[in-house]
Amino acid sequence: MTDQTPFKMKLEGKVAIITGGASGIGEATARRFAEHGARAVVIADIQDEQGQLVAESIGLHRCRYIHCNVTDEQQIKDLVESTVQMYGQLDIMFSNAGISGGDQPILDLDLSAYDASSAVNARGMAACVKHAARAMVKGGVKGSIVCTGSILASGPVKFTDYAMAKSAILGLVKSASKQLGAYGIRVNSVSPGGVATPLLCKTLQMGAEELETLLDKYKCLKGKGPMKEKNVADVVSFLASEESAFVTGHDLTVDGGHPH
Ligand code: NAD
Repeated sequence: MTDQTPFKMKLEGKVAIITGGASGIGEATARRFAEHGARAVVIADIQDEQGQLVAESIGLHRCRYIHCNVTDEQQIKDLVESTVQMYGQLDIMFSNAGISGGDQPILDLDLSAYDASSAVNARGMAACVKHAARAMVKGGVKGSIVCTGSILASGPVKFTDYAMAKSAILGLVKSASKQLGAYGIRVNSVSPGGVATPLLCKTLQMGAEELETLLDKYKCLKGKGPMKEKNVADVVSFLASEESAFVTGHDLTVDGGHPH
């Protein structure tokens, strides 16, 4: 923590999986979960070298990297099963892996590109919720599932396929939360505004610093500097923890307030 407020461990003893944990918001959340006392944080990603380095820097006593491509349901099933085998249970699934579909105006919508991005951004998310929930139900764990949406679900000017996939996550969260409530399992989403991660820098073809200056113009909240990955990670930690014990089926926006 950078400020002087006492740091409360929110996740002591918890076992968590974070998809897309090798970079950006997922990486920052892996670090936050470990700081909050999680017993085990499993980073699942396709960037093996980077994922392994992140796990090592957090400490292999509480963080592991496992290769998992979320477009492959079997890999997600194996990821969840090996996590439960290693650590006894699964308390938290942060389903966060995502890609940008690029600039996709409706008049020129490339449906093959749409299929490819939806396989990660929507189908992959649903498979993560499915297999995490199965493990929680089987283990009698009243766990927390958090998916990463986006403020772009409400309709950007372009990026049609990304908007469609992120809207699907809102439906997934609403539906799954109603069904899994019977087991004490909560399902929520976090919808970030712009953060200068590799994903957004690549999409907009800008450097991180230049992008942060641009993004700063699009939020109401001034004087706090640019929004960073850790600001999203703090909200995910809240949703993953018992501090949000009665929050379910909710989409929590983290964007510094949009001016329109
Ligand atoms: P990032 O590129 O830094 O991280 C995304 C991670 O997902 C990468 O490590 C990547 O390797 C991994 N990934 C991609 N495809 C995968 C697959 N098939 N299987 C497993 N892992 C895969 O980007 P980020 O900005 O941190 O993105 C994280 C999430 O946040 C995404 O869902 C993204 O859509 C969402 N998001 C980002 C922003 C933003 O401004 N950066 C805003 C709103 C939502």
